[in-house]
Amino acid sequence: MGVESVAIYWHPDVLKHNPGKGCYEYGPSPLMSVDEPHPETPERLINMKSILEKGPIADRLTWCEGRHASRAEIERFHTAAYVDSIIEAEKNGPTRIDGGGTVVDTGSVDAAFAAAGSALAALDGVLSGEHPRAYAMVRPPGHHASRGMGDGNCIFNNLSIAVETAAASGIERIAVIDWDVHHGNGTQSGFYNRSDVLTISMHMPLGSWNANHPESGEVDEIGQGAGVGYNLNIPLAYGTGDVAYRAVMEELVRPAIDAFAPQLIVAACGEDANQYDGNGRNLLSMRGFYDLGRIARELADQHADGKLLLVQEGGYAVTYSAFCLYAVVEGVLGVEDPMHDEIAYAASIERPEHPISLIPKIRKQWNELVAGARS
Ligand SMILES: [Zn+2]
Repeated sequence: MGVESVAIYWHPDVLKHNPGKGCYEYGPSPLMSVDEPHPETPERLINMKSILEKGPIADRLTWCEGRHASRAEIERFHTAAYVDSIIEAEKNGPTRIDGGGTVVDTGSVDAAFAAAGSALAALDGVLSGEHPRAYAMVRPPGHHASRGMGDGNCIFNNLSIAVETAAASGIERIAVIDWDVHHGNGTQSGFYNRSDVLTISMHMPLGSWNANHPESGEVDEIGQGAGVGYNLNIPLAYGTGDVAYRAVMEELVRPAIDAFAPQLIVAACGEDANQYDGNGRNLLSMRGFYDLGRIARELADQHADGKLLLVQEGGYAVTYSAFCLYAVVEGVLGVEDPMHDEIAYAASIERPEHPISLIPKIRKQWNELVAGARS
């Protein structure tokens, strides 16, 4: 099949969503003379697209057209009432749909439909075998959106719409690995009672940011009913960096994936665990993101016939998130001489002993809880 590649799915309408100015809860502060853009800015993706087009791996990437989802496709995950509420919100001008920072304004519906549809186009590429490794470069992000509610910059849960679509097409076991620095609460809630979808989220604490979003992401959220044992939360200490993330992938994520033996792996590919991100408190550098991509690829090769779908989530540092996304793709490709990280400075201050010491505790607690719930 020639030189191995990763397919990049892109649709320009994802740039139409503009949440405006100002920090999350408040919008622009009357105390400031200069308004910062809202963190979930189109520039994030413009830079990600740029580095993939211009970087040394450009000739190993295949650009594919994204598309808009149909309403019926979005309703594979979301309720019709919720989809209606988003379309209505757009008509009313800038609306904070979650009582917090998730803004819907003119252009947001087009962007949200293009994001969900491009994730589905990428899924088609993966499942058809044409592009077994595909990345959907989409926004707004999705993993905080539950079936009936937007949250945390997320309107539609692009990844979960793809997971439902894959399940409906006959894929019997799908694993989601969420390495966005925030808990993938919307994805968790969507599949909490299901044994065909293993949801794994590694994240910093601070799972609660407003009344619509109660604290979540603890180890004792193990799934419910048939879903017991199919949700694994890995809360990481603030300051967790490259060494400890790699250990978490090897010592917690890998065994869980090995036991589940998925036929498809979907990565919630956020870069906000990078050490420059204003919305995260972890310390990953490009090296850490390379390893995330590399290990996800290895697991997909081992279990899923190589089928790996990456869907863009958070990552708000406009420059460094793009470099870190690039490193993920290098890891997926197994590039032997990855790009030198010109920007990282904090990797050397990582203190991996503490986060690594949590790994056996998380494993023990989760195993005991699952065994207890099943007995
Ligand atoms: Zn995030």
